[in-house]
Amino acid sequence: MKVLIAASEAEPFAKTGGLADVTGSLLRELVKIKADAMLIMPLYRTVRERFALKDTGLAVKVPIGDTEYSSRVFSAPPAAQPRVFFVECDAFFDREELYGTLHGDYEDNALRFIFFSRAVLEACRAMALRPDVIHCNDWQTGLIPLYMRTLYKNDFGSAQSLFTIHNLGYQGIFPLSVSAVTGLGPEFFTPSGMEFYGQVNFMKSGIVFSTGLNTVSGNYSKEILTPDYGFGLDGVLKDRAEDLRGILNGIDCDLWNPAKDPMTAANYSTGDISGKASCKSELLRECGLEGQRPLLAMVGRLSSQKGIDIFLEAAGRIISDGCNIVILGRGDEEYEKGLEALARKYPGRVSLHLGHDEAFAHRVYAGSDIIVIPSRYEPCGLTQMIAHRYGTVPVARQTGGLADTIEDYDHLKGSGTGFLFADYTPDALRRAIGRSLCVYANLPAWKGVVVSGMKKDFSWRSSAKKYLSLYESLSGVKR
Ligand code: ADP
Repeated sequence: MKVLIAASEAEPFAKTGGLADVTGSLLRELVKIKADAMLIMPLYRTVRERFALKDTGLAVKVPIGDTEYSSRVFSAPPAAQPRVFFVECDAFFDREELYGTLHGDYEDNALRFIFFSRAVLEACRAMALRPDVIHCNDWQTGLIPLYMRTLYKNDFGSAQSLFTIHNLGYQGIFPLSVSAVTGLGPEFFTPSGMEFYGQVNFMKSGIVFSTGLNTVSGNYSKEILTPDYGFGLDGVLKDRAEDLRGILNGIDCDLWNPAKDPMTAANYSTGDISGKASCKSELLRECGLEGQRPLLAMVGRLSSQKGIDIFLEAAGRIISDGCNIVILGRGDEEYEKGLEALARKYPGRVSLHLGHDEAFAHRVYAGSDIIVIPSRYEPCGLTQMIAHRYGTVPVARQTGGLADTIEDYDHLKGSGTGFLFADYTPDALRRAIGRSLCVYANLPAWKGVVVSGMKKDFSWRSSAKKYLSLYESLSGVKR
């Protein structure tokens, strides 16, 4: 059984969010369990600058409307990652960012990912790869399942496609005029195809035309069937509810390992967590935060999904409740400005780091007491899993994968790994933080929560096995 993962980002090559962690880790874990797996992604500028890639010598031509784009296929050096291929097209991918700048998405994103979707299949053909399953991820690869059934039917007619929804909030919606350059007939741009309120929706194409369908947690797979979480696609998803699976993501437990992390001030494990206090002291010093107070962290994209609005509304009261706050993130200007104002108002109590910084993220996870994740919705979420592993207790909204991975603290039994709240309001967030602070004040009880979280198994192994058996059941081919 041969599988090809097609993705617009993958660690360690290019990353804007959790999708890259997932595709990179899944590939590594599949290879570890001896599955025949490969990955293909665009050759972005950042990849070319940081990795010495090998030119496979293969060139493919990809028609987009009347223009034919030439593309070369590269492979990663075997030491960096086994069997990763890149399709080059500088007109589309030799850019500063992956999808857009602070001022908005790149205007030609539809063309860029029509190109990528076709280039994946052209490259497979040129390399005679013949995968049994092509595993597509999010809207950027949403046209591949349809291309496999139509323009590339001769080569991929018997192959299966799996489409994974990592985040339904980003669907790749473009004007209907885009349909003219896809090479696909008008019969696919109807309400039963990828037409969506007079526009073209790439995510919808993936949902409608893939043979297998999954998302990244059991809870999210149910939530997206409802109008509140379906972003207008709940009806389409309901039609495929029988096929829709939820497979929880894992984290890379070698990369995220407090016992061996070279980026943190000290190392620690469940047997002896004393090193965590050193990490906290060092983080307080680095951030210029005052006093021995509970330290709350936020790490993530600053987007409306992540609940920054309710956090900003609650922040003043959280600080007067006695907490210090450290924030690492980047994203929407409105939230960046709001957080800057908060940091200016509370010097010595709030430390803000706007930008993407992997090493600092490690120090924040290791040095904080509590991580706050007030997401409006969260398909799976990786930050709470990483935080658990570093003994940093999550206070999170009870949604999506957060609800699947955090065990809400039971004050009577003294058990649990975090603190959940249901209502999307600043008050509910503050009350959950209040509950966590009550336990924080009781050192042995707090240690119990910390250690229970650290002991949870979020490794990729079991998830990779679930993907493998899904690939096998789709293709009918055992490895
Ligand atoms: P999403 O995919 O919605 O962005 P996830 O929780 O699934 O959210 O994954 C976020 C990943 O990106 C985590 O590994 C987190 O540590 C990392 N991350 C997010 N923002 C930053 C940042 N500013 N600097 C470093 N790492 C970040």
